[in-house]
Amino acid sequence: MDVTIRELADWLKGFDDIAVFGHRAPDGDACGSCVAVVLALRALGKRALACLPEGMPEFLRFLPGQDCVVSDGNLPFAPRCALAVDVSAPDMLGSNRALFENCPQRAVLDHHESNPHFGMLNHVEPGRAAAGEMALLLIEELGVPLSKDMAACLFAAISSDSGNFNYSNTTAETFETAAACVRAGADVDGITGRIYRTRTEARTRLLGLALAGLERDGKLAWTCVTNEMFRRAGALRCDTERIVNYLIEIEGVEIAALAIEQEDGGSAKFSLRSVAPYNVARDVALPLGGGGHERAAGITIQRPLREALDMVLARVREIV
Ligand code: 5GP
Ligand code: MN
Repeated sequence: MDVTIRELADWLKGFDDIAVFGHRAPDGDACGSCVAVVLALRALGKRALACLPEGMPEFLRFLPGQDCVVSDGNLPFAPRCALAVDVSAPDMLGSNRALFENCPQRAVLDHHESNPHFGMLNHVEPGRAAAGEMALLLIEELGVPLSKDMAACLFAAISSDSGNFNYSNTTAETFETAAACVRAGADVDGITGRIYRTRTEARTRLLGLALAGLERDGKLAWTCVTNEMFRRAGALRCDTERIVNYLIEIEGVEIAALAIEQEDGGSAKFSLRSVAPYNVARDVALPLGGGGHERAAGITIQRPLREALDMVLARVREIV
């Protein structure tokens, strides 16, 4: 059933012991939105936790509310009610999928057009730059004043998914959400400094290795990050975040793909980016079992890196 944010808020008010779920390889939007909602539920006196597969990534550990987060299902209480935020499809719940599906009450709050509305209650707005925009509306409907900590999390969320208010998904509402967060005390320089202007040496070395392997064919650019590169750079899995931007920013490139070998060596995750008119969610990711947004989508393919890459490139070449 599709519901309004007010209906979703009223529904949440009726429960205690709530688990808020983010997606696997959680990014700023998933982490910031989930933690902010958990802080709001706690402000109402509820037991609530943010379930993030693999936990809070290293580069977001500066955010407040870290004590709200559990990684892979080791919850101190059995959740009665589950809310998936920024999760485009059930498989994106990763290692927490069974935990979500075993909750007696389940809802979805998301901004991915490809979302199959997999909750009992669903509020999906594809026009939103970030789930964080809707998380603010949810917090308002819950009747909870926006605290400085919630504001910091939401600012990180919307800044992350809008490319720090640069991408085509950025709207007046995106800026209005940001303004509300800044008024409530979000530290713009502090948050964006951590997200955009600070990287570990290992992350920098991984970026170098990835860009050294750049390949180009007309409007198309791609590169791979292998397990060997992670080892050589001493990098974490989350250190691949935003490498794909360097590919789509190359003059003349209109579709970019970053292929990331998974730890098992037998599967690969793809980050896809495009410029108008190409829709990488609908035309590339979805047909191969993934999803996402028009200009930013992803897939995980259960094949070794090179084989998976050939599948993705073949699909991309059909649309360019
Ligand atoms: P990223 O490239 O930043 O990991 O992901 C870009 C977008 O695609 C995000 O909105 C993310 O939720 C979505 N996405 C990434 N990987 C997958 C996937 O394996 N399946 C689905 N359904 N969506 C994905
Ligand atoms: Mn998002």
